[in-house]
Amino acid sequence: MPREYETVIGLEVHVELATKTKIFCGCSTRFGGAPNTHTCPVCTGMPGSLPVLNKQVVEYAAAVGIATNCKITQHCKFDRKNYFYPDNPQNYQISQLYLPICKDGYVEIETEQGSKKVGIHEIHMEEDAGKLIHDDWEDVTMVDYNRSGVPLIEIVSEPDMRSAEEVIAYLEKLRMIIQYLGASDCKLQEGSMRADVNLSVREVGATEFGTRTEMKNLNSFTSIAHAIAGERERQIDLLENGKRVTQETRRWDDTKAESYAMRSKEDAQDYRYFPDPDLILIEISDAWLAQIKSNQPEFRTQKMARYKEEYQIPDYDIEIITGTKRMADIFEEAVAICQQPKKVSNWLMVETMRLLKEKSMDADQIRFSPAHLATLIMLVDQKVINQTIAKEIFEVMFEENIDPKQYVEENGLKQENDEGALKKTVEEVIAANPQSVADYRAGKEKAIGFLVGQTMKAMKGKADPASVNKLLKELL
Ligand code: ADP
Ligand code: MG
Ligand code: ZN
Repeated sequence: MPREYETVIGLEVHVELATKTKIFCGCSTRFGGAPNTHTCPVCTGMPGSLPVLNKQVVEYAAAVGIATNCKITQHCKFDRKNYFYPDNPQNYQISQLYLPICKDGYVEIETEQGSKKVGIHEIHMEEDAGKLIHDDWEDVTMVDYNRSGVPLIEIVSEPDMRSAEEVIAYLEKLRMIIQYLGASDCKLQEGSMRADVNLSVREVGATEFGTRTEMKNLNSFTSIAHAIAGERERQIDLLENGKRVTQETRRWDDTKAESYAMRSKEDAQDYRYFPDPDLILIEISDAWLAQIKSNQPEFRTQKMARYKEEYQIPDYDIEIITGTKRMADIFEEAVAICQQPKKVSNWLMVETMRLLKEKSMDADQIRFSPAHLATLIMLVDQKVINQTIAKEIFEVMFEENIDPKQYVEENGLKQENDEGALKKTVEEVIAANPQSVADYRAGKEKAIGFLVGQTMKAMKGKADPASVNKLLKELL
């Protein structure tokens, strides 16, 4: 009988924090910018420069820890991780080894198999490295230190995951929590969230873990899923052929669908860690910690409960709207203005989701303001425009965040609510379509649809279809 294997996975997730300035200097963290323009003596490792800790980094890191049920290390410190690499101008990275800011937490994930806790071993703060650019020149490599010193947290999970599905659920949960906190935008593609996958296999029923490998360079959920399947196969193959898995760092190549060894795994002692003498101990007082706790936002679960209670919209709507913080914010702001929860929800769930999908955008890239959405809804309610025109305006709003009220004025889109003008058109349509009129009178209810359509066309869409329908019935 073939042996059955279980996959064991633990993740190391790096998240770039959304501070305006770097972790130890005042340089901008903004993405992009000409190479080496967001730099100073501190983040380029000049002799004599000294780091000064950005307080916001500690607050974000602690906030993520609180939200993931961790214990906060109130007396913590930074350590130097020593290694040479050209993207690391100091020859060491300032990180935390001995006293990471958060320890022993967990997040709860949901999969087809139900809900499960994934343990968080620790969360530590550290600085990002610069970026080497190999592609643009034939025989030189350039270095850009704009990213050097951008604050990171590294979230280290316990080896609690057993499938790609669980890994993705875990990453989605982390991303949701961190986005709700506003601590990062967590974009895998842009690298503000990066996951290293540690994976081993063992025979089902075994009590010891197998030897693991670590895979880097995974920048989408799809490549993570592929890498997990590929590495699992590779390790099982080795074991089935009586070979051993070597503990090493591997790079997954998604186009070739295979991984290759980068380097053998180094141990903490290889880095000659020691407490950074340039930085003082961090003391998170009880009062400071209480303040960080009191700043925790309403998270998704609480929001869902409140929406049900306060807005009385269906569970399905709530599920979609609270799926991103941005969507939830737009919803709440628009409802506060127009007091129409179900209508706001419909615009978000149907048109907004459709356009986002069509243009491959995420909710964070939405440009229209909640106030403009509320105005659009009110314009329909007040019968200034009909639903069809509103949809056309919404598409323009989605592109350029125009003010719908002004747009209606400027483009003469106001609906004809003048009974006289409407009646005249309906009479003309009745006169021009004797066959449909006869059909309707003979009991074919459907014939009225055609007449409504003809009237709407004659009115260039600027009529209220319900009023047209009513008037037609009266006149027939
Ligand atoms: P190191 O300090 O050498 O990087 P850690 O013990 O901190 O190693 O573990 C790093 C990551 O690897 C953690 O996310 C952990 O859950 C995971 N991990 C550890 N052992 C295994 C294993 N046998 N199989 C899969 N993942 C593992
Ligand atoms: Mg590690
Ligand atoms: Zn700097």
